[in-house]
Amino acid sequence: MSNKKGKLVVISAPSGTGKGTVINKLLKLKHDLAFSISATTRKPRPGETDGVEYFFISKERFKEMIENNEFLEYAEYVGEYYGTPVKPIKEYIDSGKIVILDIEVQGAKQVMAKDIEATTIFLVPPDMEELEKRLRGRGTDSDEVVASRLKRAKQELTEKHHYKYTIINDCSDHAAKEIQTLISN
Ligand code: 5GP
Repeated sequence: MSNKKGKLVVISAPSGTGKGTVINKLLKLKHDLAFSISATTRKPRPGETDGVEYFFISKERFKEMIENNEFLEYAEYVGEYYGTPVKPIKEYIDSGKIVILDIEVQGAKQVMAKDIEATTIFLVPPDMEELEKRLRGRGTDSDEVVASRLKRAKQELTEKHHYKYTIINDCSDHAAKEIQTLISN
């Protein structure tokens, strides 16, 4: 076991902010980071692979994992469930790694309520028009899902004060660099 304890970095952003791009750039900038792969009941989007972006599981399996206390946190988001498996997190922390959690606000608040060292970052979209354009432009979600995600995005923006840092994602390279600086301190 490493004598250097790891820590968590929680990154939240309304859907459509471009958080995925920022996190991918961050992982390329800093190779010693670990990305926490969440479990979800939503269906994979084209190009997503089980065990890479998410573990895609059934609602039954998700419920089982809740009952077995296998999640560090979990939340319902636009009709689907998302959760952070706790076992890999414990292993990463014990081996001194910085672990990136890409999670929404309810789950982030559950992590904040625990006695774990966490740097919390909220990424803000440059403007709502851009966010709506990105959500619609994905072309993989129904109009209903896009409308629910947009509503949820507006709600989430009112909760950014819970986070230690707020970063505006007007340029993904800059945002990734800013996060790199924050977590290297
Ligand atoms: P998407 O369906 O667009 O991949 O993700 C929807 C939302 O769920 C995003 O805000 C994402 O950060 C969040 N999310 C992904 N994994 C988790 C998780 O394990 N827990 C929680 N609470 N939210 C998650």
